[in-house]
Amino acid sequence: MARLVSARIFPSQWFQVSRLPSIRSPLNWHSAAGSGDLSFRGVKLSNPPGFVAAALEVPKSARHSPGSENCLPSEEVIRTWCDADAVCFDVDSTVCLDEGIDELADFCGAGPAVAQWTAKAMTGSIAFEEALAARLSLFEPSLYQVNECMEKRPPRISPGIAKLIRMLRAKNVDVYLVSGGFRQMFKPIALELGIPPENIYANQLVFGNSGEYVGFDPAEPTSRSGGKAVAVQHIRQKFGYKTLVMIGDGATDLEARQPGGADLFICYGGVQMREAVAAKADWVVSDFQELIAYLA
Ligand SMILES: [Mg+2]
Repeated sequence: MARLVSARIFPSQWFQVSRLPSIRSPLNWHSAAGSGDLSFRGVKLSNPPGFVAAALEVPKSARHSPGSENCLPSEEVIRTWCDADAVCFDVDSTVCLDEGIDELADFCGAGPAVAQWTAKAMTGSIAFEEALAARLSLFEPSLYQVNECMEKRPPRISPGIAKLIRMLRAKNVDVYLVSGGFRQMFKPIALELGIPPENIYANQLVFGNSGEYVGFDPAEPTSRSGGKAVAVQHIRQKFGYKTLVMIGDGATDLEARQPGGADLFICYGGVQMREAVAAKADWVVSDFQELIAYLA
């Protein structure tokens, strides 16, 4: 433990990044029915996307956050992090730099209207399922549009996440993606990061026979308010994990920190720093390297 404590990240390293620069892979994803590489609800991708982690030369403001006192983890927090046998990651603004639904909506020409709903949904004042249905109804994405969006705007992976997940997997820690976003858009990300597709807990867009938008699967726990907490509890119970950690940027990620769910909530503020969430987190980091340092 002494070694770990000596490796602490100190507040001088705290920084806030409101938005990282737009860097996208030059490689496209290709739809290829029958390729067998990736498939979900009629979507087939032959070539794994050439993800590019965003460049590290992001602007660092040296200012301290009002909630930055918990960027110094206690020994108990460090012990829990190092002992974890399962880690659940939020996707939007955590594993990836973007909010997936906003990207898809923007691609479909409904960006500003949907972003307004997303902002409202994040306040927690509207039931998640209501906000999800309202946002999707504004642009009703077809399967073709989802495929085209993924091809032309592949998700941007957060700096350091690939290394962190690689290290967790090397320690035999099971890794999950738990998100209110769409499974269709996460499978290629999971493939890139070495996460089994069955470890994705997310929403499912439903399409008709012609690929037209029909809705989303309301049976997915993540389609409802409090859904991430339910998903994390389910994961823990199903596999009997002793120590489970949740990492994310939002209030719904924080909700997973409860008896029977996550033992530890780490707020990742490298993309979006939400002060209300950071203030209640066990540990606040703005760079995944801060977590990697304790695993090395
Ligand atoms: Mg998020």
